[in-house]
Amino acid sequence: MGDILVVKAKLKEVCKGFNVAGDLAEALSAKVSAAVDDAVKRADANGRKTVMGKDVPFSFECSAKHGENLIVKAKLKEAAKGSNVAGDLAEHLNCLAHQLLKAACERAESNQRKTVMAKDL
Ligand SMILES: [Zn+2]
Repeated sequence: MGDILVVKAKLKEVCKGFNVAGDLAEALSAKVSAAVDDAVKRADANGRKTVMGKDVPFSFECSAKHGENLIVKAKLKEAAKGSNVAGDLAEHLNCLAHQLLKAACERAESNQRKTVMAKDL
């Protein structure tokens, strides 16, 4: 497990009304990390050395404004393993993280739990 790519302290603010299990941040970070890997592959397949926001799946279908930044921007360069990181990558990863968290909260709620856990992601 590499460095955590999400801001753990913000998860509780985003998951309003829920408790946040100890394993949630690491699991969300792993999903974000996987999205970075996919984005690097997509940029590579398009002959680009720069990973851009548009290489992150799903983020373009979202029109929400995400107030809280969940992404540790300083860690993205390392996560992108030598690729250049465009300025909009963090924003799109943030959107993805918010979508994943929202779905996880809904899953916890439908299971009548007050705690959002890694398995809800
Ligand atoms: Zn969004």
